[in-house]
Amino acid sequence: MYPRIVIDMKKLEGNLDAVAKITKEGGCSLMIVTKGVCADPEVTKMIARHPAVSYMADSRVENLRAYAADARENGKQTVLLRLPMMSQAAEVVDVADISFNSELVTIKALDEAAAAAGKTHKIVLMIDLGDLREGIFFEKEDEIYAAVEQILALKNIELYGVAVNLTCYGAIIPKNDNLSNLARIAGEIEKKFSIKLPIVSGGNSSSIYLIGKGELPAGINNLRLGESFFLGNDTAYFTKLPGTVDDAITLEAEIIELKEKPSLPIGEVGKDAFGQVPVYEDKGLMMRAIVAVGQQDVALDSVEPVNEDLEVMGASSDHMIVDVTHSAKEYKVGDVISFKLGYGGMLRTTTSAYVERAYK
Ligand SMILES: *Cc1c(COP(=O)(O)O)cnc(C)c1O
Repeated sequence: MYPRIVIDMKKLEGNLDAVAKITKEGGCSLMIVTKGVCADPEVTKMIARHPAVSYMADSRVENLRAYAADARENGKQTVLLRLPMMSQAAEVVDVADISFNSELVTIKALDEAAAAAGKTHKIVLMIDLGDLREGIFFEKEDEIYAAVEQILALKNIELYGVAVNLTCYGAIIPKNDNLSNLARIAGEIEKKFSIKLPIVSGGNSSSIYLIGKGELPAGINNLRLGESFFLGNDTAYFTKLPGTVDDAITLEAEIIELKEKPSLPIGEVGKDAFGQVPVYEDKGLMMRAIVAVGQQDVALDSVEPVNEDLEVMGASSDHMIVDVTHSAKEYKVGDVISFKLGYGGMLRTTTSAYVERAYK
């Protein structure tokens, strides 16, 4: 059945080995982030069995629920990355061993839920170093220490560490200087309150490049990796990480029409299926393949044919048009075209109910 996502488990495991080697060189524990493939069950099974992984993380409670038991049986702690909704406190405490937090009211709700469940719930306090998504703003250090004091007073909460997230909202690149602030704040907390923080988490796939350059500040001891594992990307500068491949996960879609047509539509140009006014380039007559996949299933700017002779022209909700004019390979109706995916493409494709899965 098509469209389908094809996951090459050997290649993906090779990527995991590669990022595990780098994080180990950097003195960091490894948290693998599963939301990029919607916590695919075969992928999470493989991660749960990998000896270098300490934590399995996702931003959705639903995804964690799917693999929490398997992760725990294999000695991994489960982590909720997105700040919990207060209304979800009981579920969070149930499926996540650790959650990332920045709001005391929510942490108190987690404390109550943990007490009700007869558990201790671990939290990581988010510090915002300037990307301006979640976390207590780093310049408000008094607010950070006041929060820590209150957290330490809660009976069913353990302060497990601090973390920063960068290159998401503000697209700020992690560097030695901004991450040093996190390491310094962590050190201050340990000194002031005479505690040890098991995790000082220095970010996502945009921080991994610092290890290769020897610039990850001392004191950062954890990274949370999604895209670098799935696609081999350092997401600060989009270099390829050594030992990784970018085609472990591909999309296959079937050709349903193949015809020679002009490259310029005929008639007055209005708006396309998504309200955009399209721009066309006149390339003369071309061989146009329509494949049965669309913007419902894939992010158009995040999909690229494996065959470099092909070019994606555009897509409406259920049809994608591919220029096959210059292909050395001859295509016919019923043939399958393979695509590499970027992070957005992978995310959208694995969450589409219309896309099948295959593993090799
Ligand atoms: C998604 C996410 C990650 C993983 O990001 P990648 O760029 O895929 O490595 C890490 N931390 C948080 C808080 C996230 O939301």
